[in-house]
Amino acid sequence: MRRSMAEAAVGDDCYGDDPTVNTLEALVAEILGKEAAVYMPTGTMSNQVAIRSHTEPGDAVLLEQTAHVYLNEGGAPFALSGVHPRFLRGIDGVFSTADVEAALPQRHPFLPKHWAPPTKLLCVENTHNAGGGKVWPFARLVSVCEAGRAAGLHLHLDGARLWNAAAATKISEAHWAAQFDTVSVCFSKGLGAPVGSALAGTAELISRARRFKTQFGGGFRQAGIVAAGALHALRYHRDRLEEDHANAGIFASGLASIPGIQVDPESIETNMVRFRVTSSDASEFAVRLHAAGVHVLPITRDMLRAVMCLNVTREHVIEAVEITRSVLRSNSTLRPAPGH
Ligand SMILES: *Cc1c(COP(=O)(O)O)cnc(C)c1O
Repeated sequence: MRRSMAEAAVGDDCYGDDPTVNTLEALVAEILGKEAAVYMPTGTMSNQVAIRSHTEPGDAVLLEQTAHVYLNEGGAPFALSGVHPRFLRGIDGVFSTADVEAALPQRHPFLPKHWAPPTKLLCVENTHNAGGGKVWPFARLVSVCEAGRAAGLHLHLDGARLWNAAAATKISEAHWAAQFDTVSVCFSKGLGAPVGSALAGTAELISRARRFKTQFGGGFRQAGIVAAGALHALRYHRDRLEEDHANAGIFASGLASIPGIQVDPESIETNMVRFRVTSSDASEFAVRLHAAGVHVLPITRDMLRAVMCLNVTREHVIEAVEITRSVLRSNSTLRPAPGH
């Protein structure tokens, strides 16, 4: 990957003449079965440009209440697009057609037509980050998208980890993407590229997206150097995602053998493991694990999350289980982890 980046042909992406970026965009569009794609510096920008492209300020957007676009993107939908949220309550990020219908504004001849903001967009996330890497059941996703279309909504997929959903189900990325107007995918997560994401959709929508990419400060000149890393990841790292899923299963089974930890290995669908510590505060436990070399995030007061990727090997996972076991056993006093 580093070699392909060093040797990449570059131009100026603001002028559309960076050959490596153009190759990457064409390949993404092909894999996702869309007319066009645009390379983005981050997944956050990709999602937020999508939201801005589908709406005008004051429009309403249907968001699941634990969606990455809502929880983890700095309040961008409201700050940058001026949209109004209508929340859906899913389970691990997965909701139903009834949830979509209940979140739509009520219509009745007695109600003034212009009270509720126009609802324009429905966002779906697959796999679901806050849902522990949950994959949407395909039929459920189709029915939810049909309900959205029936209500006249545009449909956006936050597919930062769509590659993982495809690897776990053998349902192709294009098949998932076909349900949506726009799809955002990340190269910088499980695929292991240093930089970037892409937004795919119709040529018309992607042309509008390029305007907001510029407006949000995303025109990034000689981007071919980083696009070459993304291209390498797309070509050579998708096939190995199942290893991450297998490693997540091994980690979960190992943790399940440790007294004081609760985890359901059966619930692991992709590359994330959520587990509960019963005898300690999750954030303290994360600091102790970090000091011992295992880097996981506390996600609630008693839950932690581990994520597998291409630089975590099976040996690392087995070692991490043993470190977790000994950290839990030891009563070592809390020491701040390096860098904290
Ligand atoms: C990481 C992530 C993003 C954002 O990607 P960045 O490149 O970190 O901005 C968006 N959606 C989901 C589900 C993610 O996990």
